[in-house]
Amino acid sequence: MRLMEDMIRNEGKVLPGGVLKVGSFLNQRIDTDLLRETGQEIARLYAGAGVNKVLTIEASGIAIAAAAALEMGVPMVFAKKHRSSNVEGDVVTAVVHSFTHGEDCTVVVSREYLGPGDRVLLVDDFLANGAALEGLISLTEQAGAEVAGAAIAVEKCFQGGGEALRKKGYRIESLARIASMDENSVVFVRDGEAP
Ligand code: 5GP
Repeated sequence: MRLMEDMIRNEGKVLPGGVLKVGSFLNQRIDTDLLRETGQEIARLYAGAGVNKVLTIEASGIAIAAAAALEMGVPMVFAKKHRSSNVEGDVVTAVVHSFTHGEDCTVVVSREYLGPGDRVLLVDDFLANGAALEGLISLTEQAGAEVAGAAIAVEKCFQGGGEALRKKGYRIESLARIASMDENSVVFVRDGEAP
């Protein structure tokens, strides 16, 4: 998606450790034109895929997932993060290693909000090593729901998480695909090239 790439090029900052900072338009201050177009593009990509629910992880996935769900006319659910694995109730849980914080957390969804009969679109802001998406897949499958696919705002293809999940047969669509990046430049994967 052209606007996503332009904003990354103009406002993104590459930090040491392979983290792209997008606080000025996606993670803290949210650009609403970008958000609207992101929701529309995700809805276009998954039109006809039978999605009846969108699932993400708090916090940074919520805005994008809500924008997509709004365009698709379906509800959005987000997994809550807990520091301990001590979670009670009729829930599904998964342990996810956070790429940006370097620690594990338990993500939790109530079975009241996700279950058999749901065909779920997973949404997140970034795809790096794939841990967050694997957690969302696990929650969906434990709940007895079906994964329709995933939609990601920014995939860092050089970290390989997307490739591994595509090899497992999951449909993954990314709106901006980064081939490589350093402090001076971000290089995108062009359409038609392998992600
Ligand atoms: P993964 O689990 O695929 O390794 O990483 C994805 C998760 O880590 C996303 O939920 C996202 O919040 C965070 N993340 C990974 N890489 C980046 C990055 O370069 N910038 C930002 N802002 N978040 C990232």
